[in-house]
Amino acid sequence: MTCESSLLDVASSSSREVGRPRAMPRGPFASSTGVGRAEPPWDALNRCEDVVVGRDDVYESWRADDDARAASPARVDAPPVMWEKGCSNLSDAYDVVVVGCGLSGAAIAERCSRALGMKVLILERRDHVGGNCYDYVDEKSDIRCSKYGAHLFHTKHQRVWEYVKKFSEWTPYEHRVRGRARASDGEMRLVPIPPTRETVNALFEDADVTNDAEMEAWYDAERIQPASGGAPANGEEAALARVGPRLYEAIFKHYTKKQWDKYPEELDASVLTRLPCRTTNDDRYFSDAWQALPRRGYTRIFENMLANDPNVTVRLECDYFEMKKSGKVPRHEILVYTGQIDSYYAAMGMPKLEYRSVVFEEEYVEDADEGYYQEAMVVNYPGPDVPYTRIVEYKHLPNQPEGRHEKPGTIIAREYSSATGEPYYPVPNPANRALYEKYAELAAKEENVAFVGRLASYKYFNMDEAILNALEMFDNLRERGVLDPKRAPKDF
Ligand code: UDP
Repeated sequence: MTCESSLLDVASSSSREVGRPRAMPRGPFASSTGVGRAEPPWDALNRCEDVVVGRDDVYESWRADDDARAASPARVDAPPVMWEKGCSNLSDAYDVVVVGCGLSGAAIAERCSRALGMKVLILERRDHVGGNCYDYVDEKSDIRCSKYGAHLFHTKHQRVWEYVKKFSEWTPYEHRVRGRARASDGEMRLVPIPPTRETVNALFEDADVTNDAEMEAWYDAERIQPASGGAPANGEEAALARVGPRLYEAIFKHYTKKQWDKYPEELDASVLTRLPCRTTNDDRYFSDAWQALPRRGYTRIFENMLANDPNVTVRLECDYFEMKKSGKVPRHEILVYTGQIDSYYAAMGMPKLEYRSVVFEEEYVEDADEGYYQEAMVVNYPGPDVPYTRIVEYKHLPNQPEGRHEKPGTIIAREYSSATGEPYYPVPNPANRALYEKYAELAAKEENVAFVGRLASYKYFNMDEAILNALEMFDNLRERGVLDPKRAPKDF
């Protein structure tokens, strides 16, 4: 397994001044290129155009409507769409009933309606659309917050990029994370995550890496290959083969234990290889070609996908299982189920699948030093000394409401991983995979029911993968008349 080496030769030669980490700037996390951008030349690897791209029809129609603007004169953006609640007054029949209004459900609904003219009903248990992407502008602070934690859009799939541009304007953004990690001299230091040359030099007194070749040699000297001689069999072997025991201890081991309540050796190798490790000083969290944030938030994407469409009915606070029990689900040709696959088969009495949840401890900080609590939007705490995994400060993002960066006050959210609560992450290890396969066998026998998305496929999809999976399933519906995946979730 190799690490990412320099993507641009010019970058490796121009960043020889590695040394100890520089003091972090106050204010929104910026670079010489702007808020939320990496330093050149790394920013140039983001193929999102420099200016905002994409369309926001909800915003445009609000802006063109004098009456609507007059009704909310203080606003600079359209107010959120109000969706209907409850399951009364539904039609008797729909072509498609979609359970869950997250990315997967919304993408299938949008395509079925706009490409095939199908009549779609979406039943959402929560009181909002957007699934875990849901965000809102907090009334007290005027800061755009994500209810279910930070969401950073990135994709290498041009098809997904072209698709999402139809439902939002997008602001170029490269997510960059810092971590407070313990160095070999015992001090806590703020370092780039994923690890770069700067990370290694800051954490280890004996490291003085100044170029790609030296960094590759540093990794080589640290790495421990699996005793089996084969591919890493679990997360610990994967991390040791990539970065060796010292970085593993400082950055990966305890963070992973906190996030999953399992040590890396109890998890699939894939969990630990989500994070790149670099030989350069490219401190971007993701390497994908397109990286951007929806200019007016993620919720707006769902509004543009589903609102004002006569074919699509969205109903909030509707529990599909309750409706099914009382015979209230309207007739339909196809059911698209995006919830937990084990909940769908709860009556079978099989063991439940394991999920991780996240508890957010939010705090409004009025007197933050120069308006910011911490140095970057996300600061990870990879050590065992604090119980939370990271602290998120949304104010650093460039897609905050206009003028918000200049105002005092900020919101932070400490994230604690938890076994109970809303399911966020399927837990990827052999036992859970084997159990999922049993559920998947049942699902394969269903006629006219499609299981779509992170919870129904028990797969740690990123946002773009969830969209691509939904679009590919829709391709099959159009080509063959069935909503089947084009590839197995594990192949994403
Ligand atoms: N990880 C880590 N230390 C960090 C960041 C990530 O050990 O500082 C590991 C950890 O096992 C985590 C995985 O990398 O579960 C994937 O991290 P990612 O940031 O992709 O998780 P997400 O953003 O999806 O919560």
